[in-house]
Formats: sequence, structure tokens, C-alpha cells
Amino acid sequence: MALFSKEPCAFCGKEVGMMSRSKMSSKDYVCDDCRKKGNPFARVDHLTKDQVAEMFARAERDEKLLDGVELSDEYLDAGMGKVIHFRSQKDGGDIFTVSTPETQRYEHRPVFYFSSIRKWNPGEAFVERSVGAAPREAVRDYSVLITLKEKLSADKKNDGWELRIPYFDAAVPEILIKIPKEAEADKVQRFYRNICGMCEYRVSRGIRAARDKEELQVKNACKTANEALKAALKGGDVKEVLAEGLQKSIDIDQGKIKKKGFFARLFGR
Ligand SMILES: [Zn+2]
Repeated sequence: MALFSKEPCAFCGKEVGMMSRSKMSSKDYVCDDCRKKGNPFARVDHLTKDQVAEMFARAERDEKLLDGVELSDEYLDAGMGKVIHFRSQKDGGDIFTVSTPETQRYEHRPVFYFSSIRKWNPGEAFVERSVGAAPREAVRDYSVLITLKEKLSADKKNDGWELRIPYFDAAVPEILIKIPKEAEADKVQRFYRNICGMCEYRVSRGIRAARDKEELQVKNACKTANEALKAALKGGDVKEVLAEGLQKSIDIDQGKIKKKGFFARLFGR
């Protein structure tokens, strides 16, 4: 029967049974050993063999981004000696990584970005690739976007939880964290709320910094215009006033360039 037949892995050639392989969208298979080269949260059934190969290469490349990055650790004691970690870059940086007892079997730690926590949209990704940027909605409420759902067994008893983080990536459209039933309910709730809170903190910080700069520019332009007018009326040096205003504007702008990476990723501007 076909169900029990072995199929070759498209990467290593090993013949593997149904329980230790995954079918890719190109209809061939990847074995569980080869899968460990990739992002543990990737959906290989949505990817072709070539896309899976690219995802493996990216997982290896991405992990190097964690070198030298200071991470703070938000963890959940999941019971039975199991721990789930949500580690995020200190000082409001954009990088985070997730580790669970399952992901520890993988070769590379996955790398994610707070600014990519939003629903995967192939149309938007196409526009972004074509023109370099796409207008996008800022996420307003992370506790709506990120969900925690209790799983129930047939006899309506708790059977663990599923914490889902939508992610803007074709290979990982969602970060699904499976929490076993041995975890304590209030700790699970707190872990979930803290993750939402960290997302909100980073995004509000990015928006505030950008707004501050814009306000500074408007204020500087008004002040410069007023002073130039005063100088003109009193016979002062208009050119000097304008040069000062211009220099200040450049200074504000240079601060803006520093912050642009995060803001640009949020809004595509
Ligand atoms: Zn293989």
C-alpha cells in the first residue's frame, strides 16, 4: 500500500517512511534529518524544493546575525523540565528568536524581526520586491494579531495551548509555539501578555522617534523664517540666520537617517 511505501528525500536521497518525511509543494519529499537545517517554524508543505533549499541557506546565514547581539530572555516554564524561550534584542532592537524543546533539535537558531510581525501578504511582498517599498498599515493592537488558544481534548479537558504569531515571510507565515498541557495556565497567560507588550513597546518607540523628528523640523522651519524676517527688518545678517537654520535641519535629518531602518520597515517609507 502506498501509505507505507518509502520515498527518497530530495536532498540526501535517503529512503524514508511516512512518519519521518514531509511533502513539499513540488510533490517531492524532505526527510526529518534534512529539515533540521532550516527554520524550525517554516512550512515546508507551502514551499517547492528550490524554496526549501533557499530557506536552509538563509537559516545558516541568519543565525550569524545573532552573534554579538545582547538578548533579554522571556521564558515560560512549560512543566516536565521543558522551557520555552522568547529572546529579544536589548535596547528596543528589532531582532528576536524563539526556542522550544522541538526547535533545539534544529541546527540553527531562527532569526525574526519585530517589524515583520504582521499577516503574510503575497501581493504586498510582490510590490515590495518590484518597487523596493510598499505602503503598509502599522499594527495597532498586538493582542489581537497574536493569539493564544487553549486546546481541548475530546472530554473537554485542557490539552495545552497554541500561541500564534503571524509573520510576514513566505517560508514562515506564522510562528506557532506549541505549549504543553503541563504548563500552568496563569504563567502561559503572562508569557503571552509579555510578548504582546514587547511588540507594542518596540513599535510605539519607533513611531514616537519619527514623530519627534518631524515636529522638530516644522519648529525649526518656523523659527528660521521668523528670525530671517526679523534680521531683514532690523538690517541684520539674513544669510547667516538661514545658514544656521539649514544646518539645524540637516542635523535633525541625520538623526532621522539613523532611525530610518526601523521606521522604513514598518511603513515602507
Ligand atoms: Zn534528507
